[in-house]
Amino acid sequence: MKAPMLSIVVPCYNEEEVFATTAHELSAVLQKLMKRQLIDSASSLLFVDDGSRDRTWSLIAQESSNNPLVTGVKLARNVGHQNALLAGLETAYKTADCVISIDADLQDDTTVIETFVERYHEGYDVVYGVRNRRDTDTVFKRRTALGYYWFMNKLGIKLVPNHADFRLLSKAALGELLKYKESNLFFRGLVPLVGYAQTEVYYDRKERLAGESKYPLKKMLSFAFDGLTSFSVTPIRFVTLIGFLAFLFSIVAGSYALIQKLTGHPASGWTSLIISIWLLGGLQLMGIGLIGEYVGKIFKEVKARPKYAIEQHIASEPKLQDHKR
Ligand code: UDP
Ligand code: MG
Repeated sequence: MKAPMLSIVVPCYNEEEVFATTAHELSAVLQKLMKRQLIDSASSLLFVDDGSRDRTWSLIAQESSNNPLVTGVKLARNVGHQNALLAGLETAYKTADCVISIDADLQDDTTVIETFVERYHEGYDVVYGVRNRRDTDTVFKRRTALGYYWFMNKLGIKLVPNHADFRLLSKAALGELLKYKESNLFFRGLVPLVGYAQTEVYYDRKERLAGESKYPLKKMLSFAFDGLTSFSVTPIRFVTLIGFLAFLFSIVAGSYALIQKLTGHPASGWTSLIISIWLLGGLQLMGIGLIGEYVGKIFKEVKARPKYAIEQHIASEPKLQDHKR
């Protein structure tokens, strides 16, 4: 088999502190793989600057003029991790035979990239990087993640536990993945749906090299909720079920009250009345909110807005192509 052309896609948002180390370390990995003739010598790193407000883009541009392995794409504004990754994957798809996505902070072990490529040579189209342990994450993050995987699994959504967006995709698998045009991207949920020969490689996740997590709790929760409502209608069914049970209960309670009245023992007081009003009101609002969530999703999908805009592209031969109009 001819050595594949590999593209390592790295989304970066305000990563000036780690960029130099990341570029250096990943370049070393590429060189090693080229030496072993596991990848084509035209393989490269693709840094996607997701509208950073620090010097990230100028560092990428500077590095690419010194280091032929470095290419870059500058997005017109910050569109979030998943969309930035999409921009990188779509760009890489044009030239690469396989792609690996990895975060800029090097929390993922770059040495297993070699194993990824070996698996690719064995014939796998999708290789997931899976964290062995999550000691470097907070207890809270670990617990919530565990609960989340359990819950998603219960709803029948296939996720690879302890796998983030560190994975290899062959051109064939990537091509299929890119056909999923939904606007609420959740790659972790989509990749298992793509199929092809899939396998896992285990590694230890490290501390963030420097800088802060770009996923504060609020973003993490909304990401988790998006993942849930993009892949399952079970929550909405659950609300319907609760509504139905409440309806049954009111029929039973109503009949009871009627019988009591007919037999001369009318139920007194308005406590039960108020409680049921609050209960049903609450359930209804909750249900409407949940339906609204799905309707909002439909609204977003129907608009089908572009998910990113590429402002500049530094391709393999260091030349600056301006896509500005
Ligand atoms: N990232 C991005 N756009 C954003 C937020 C994050 O491209 O709006 C990138 C970030 O630079 C990093 C990756 O996504 O390469 C994962 O982010 P981070 O490491 O902060 O997340 P965590 O590992 O804490 O979940
Ligand atoms: Mg990180």
